[in-house]
Amino acid sequence: MHSRDAVFLEDLWPKLRVRQWRQSLHTYTGKSCIYCGKPSESIDHVLPRSRGGLSITENCVPACLSCNGHKSDAEVFDWYRRQRFYDPRRSMAIRAWVDGDLRLALRLLQWAQPTQLETKETTTKNKDSDWALQVA
Ligand SMILES: [Zn+2]
Repeated sequence: MHSRDAVFLEDLWPKLRVRQWRQSLHTYTGKSCIYCGKPSESIDHVLPRSRGGLSITENCVPACLSCNGHKSDAEVFDWYRRQRFYDPRRSMAIRAWVDGDLRLALRLLQWAQPTQLETKETTTKNKDSDWALQVA
């Protein structure tokens, strides 16, 4: 995958592109939190920045403020398993996301949340080339 080659640090990026990138992350999940499915209001670093997590697509997921704040510096899968909204499909989706397999991640999310992502899948497929451009 093209996304493997890319390392984008926010400091190296013009602010506008950072904003576009953040928006594109929200768009992928249909603007829903990857953890609980509520509206995503923020971008969560899966591996916290305080522990060396980078601001790259593989490490940044759309999250609601509640999950983002609650997770804090905890290890993501440990934290997630303890949540009452835990869903193994979402857990797999997060795993796929951090592995850089966004397509698989979105398919799993669609499985976990069919109604919200129903129409997004086709859009995402058609946008694969855009996606490659953004991260290449
Ligand atoms: Zn959430």
